[in-house]
Parts: sequence; C-alpha cells; structure tokens
Amino acid sequence: MTVFHEGTKTHEGRHRDEPLLDRGHGFQYAMLTAADIKACASELGFDACGIAPAECFPELQFFREWLDRGYAGDMTYLHRSADRRADVRHVLPSARTVIVTATNYNTNRPYSTEIADPHRAHIARYAWGDDYHDVIGARLDVLLAWMRDRSPEPFEARAYVDTGPVQERVYAQYAGLGWIGKNTCVIHPAMGSWMFLAEIVCSLPFPVDAPSLDQCGTCTLCLDACPTHALVAPGILDSTRCISYLTIEHRGDIPESMQPAIGSHVYGCDICQEVCPWNAVAPRSSDPVWQPREAWDGVDVSSLADRSQDELRHAMRGSAMRRAKAHGLRRNIAVALRNVHGSGARSG
Ligand code: SF4
Ligand code: SF4
Repeated sequence: MTVFHEGTKTHEGRHRDEPLLDRGHGFQYAMLTAADIKACASELGFDACGIAPAECFPELQFFREWLDRGYAGDMTYLHRSADRRADVRHVLPSARTVIVTATNYNTNRPYSTEIADPHRAHIARYAWGDDYHDVIGARLDVLLAWMRDRSPEPFEARAYVDTGPVQERVYAQYAGLGWIGKNTCVIHPAMGSWMFLAEIVCSLPFPVDAPSLDQCGTCTLCLDACPTHALVAPGILDSTRCISYLTIEHRGDIPESMQPAIGSHVYGCDICQEVCPWNAVAPRSSDPVWQPREAWDGVDVSSLADRSQDELRHAMRGSAMRRAKAHGLRRNIAVALRNVHGSGARSG
C-alpha cells in the first residue's frame, strides 16, 4: 500500500460519486475502511492504531473530581477545558469514532534508575529528540489528508497531538492500545508505555476495537518508587507533587519542601515508568527523530549549569523541552545542582 499516492491519483479528475475500477473485480465504489486507515498509519510510522467509539465512558467522569481535589495545580487551562474534556462529542458534536495512534519513542539509553552516578542529569525520555508535537502532528495531518482523499463521502474531523481537549488515554484504552496503569500511563502489552498518543476525532462510523484489559494486577511498583509520593492512589496523580509537573508545568520557584526529592531531574521524570515490569524489555525505536540530542546525551548537572542561556536555548530549539523555556530549565538545573553538590552550590 502506498500512502497518499494511491488515493490522490485515483481521485484525480473524478467526481466523488463515480465508481472506481478495481482491477480484477470490475467496478466498485471508493472505500475507506478501518483496515485501510491502520495500514496507512503503519506506513506513516505509527507503531499502533486502534479505533474507539466516540462515547462518554465512565473513566472520563473522574476528571472533574480530580480538578476539584486541586491535583492540577496551576494548570488552569485544564479547568477551562473541563467541559470539553468530559466527552469528545463536546469537541466535535458529529463525532462517531476516535482513531488513536501510538508511536514508540524508546531508545537504547539506560533508564535513570539504572544510572549510579548521582551527578548525571535526568531528562524525561520523551524530550530527548525532536518535538513530538511537530513530528507526530505532521504525520497525523498526512493520515487525515489521505482519509479525506480516500473517503467516498465528506466528513468532519479534528486531529490532536497531546494538546487537544481530549482525555486521550481513555480513548486509547477503548481503542485497544493498552490499559491505563496505576502510574496513569497507557501500557501496551507489547510496547510498554513509552508511547506518544495522538488521535483523529472523526464523524465517520468504523468498526471499533475491543478495549484493553487492565493487567497491573496486584503490582504497586510505580506507587512505591515515586520519590515524591505523587501517585496518591492507584491511577491517581497529584500533579502538584509530581517532578514532571514541578519541572515543566509549574511557573515560579519550586516549593522548597519538594526540592530535595527532585534529585538530579532537570526536566520531567520517568521513574514510575522505568520500574514498570511492562517496560522491562520495551522495544526500541530506530526512528532518528527520537534519538537523544548530543546536548543532553549523558550530561551531568554541572556541565548543564555551565552553559549559557543562549546555549540552552539553542539546544532546546525544535525539542519538546522548549515548553519549560530556558529560564525554567535554568531554575531546574539550579535545584538539581544544590541536590547533588549540597546547599553551597552555585545557583547558576
Ligand atoms: S513522574 Fe516521577 S514524580 Fe511523577 S508520579 Fe511518576 S515517579 Fe512520581
Ligand atoms: S508498575 Fe505495576 S502497578 Fe505500576 S503501572 Fe506498571 S504494572 Fe501497573
């Protein structure tokens, strides 16, 4: 199957209601099937693709309570979009299905929990390469354009890469891409949880996939390993205690009471994923876009602290790390420096 070209060429100069010539089978009408979409997604570099019904699942309802408990911290945009996040049909009223994709970003570098050197700076694995919003967004645009070209009828759709008002993990679970683990990540039984999720909310009805079943069982490794006790219950994250939130989303100073537990994490945290048995032998991506940039690969906290603001800014360009901005990263490096060298360390 050739992505894009087949549909583009076939539809050239042809009215959408005209029949297509199907070699060997006479005439038939153009079709867009779930299998076609999954095959196209695979060819575009997505590692998995599933389809969920655009319905209001029970798991979507907890979000409001989670906000009310204050677990979103100062991520006020989550409060503003809470109504839309309650049901994907609040984003697209005509939605019938949610096509969810997963992309493996794991690479061959060791986990932070395997590195004995206390001076090593830790950066969340997803941020090592190019910005997934750009890479996945471009691939998703091609998939959607191919669907529009291939479909015999017009349809409405919205494509999102992480930033949309959609509880994508719930739809991923119902699309059969994995279950939501006690660490709050979607865990694919073969790929583990090192996955970027992205979705197309679509007005077309397709056969949907079977939802994934929870396979955490009695395991509590992620809850036990979290250095800040941010996983307050299975599957419930208090973001205000989470190193990922504190080093990326939180603006202003990091509360002093939280600083020691941050250790040498300068951007995000992977601990609750690293300890998960489903990530013990996780497959690795050879896609060049996810490989670690030299600027972050195996660096220690002191060497990061020695870099100028311009050097940090340059290294963050085109990477997901720009979300924290250079001054945010500088703040995190200062905290990590004090943690690894003691309170007398320079503040950067
Ligand atoms: S990312 Fe780190 S701090 Fe946040 S819940 Fe997981 S282990 Fe805890
Ligand atoms: S570490 Fe255990 S409890 Fe946590 S997400 Fe993985 S399997 Fe589930």
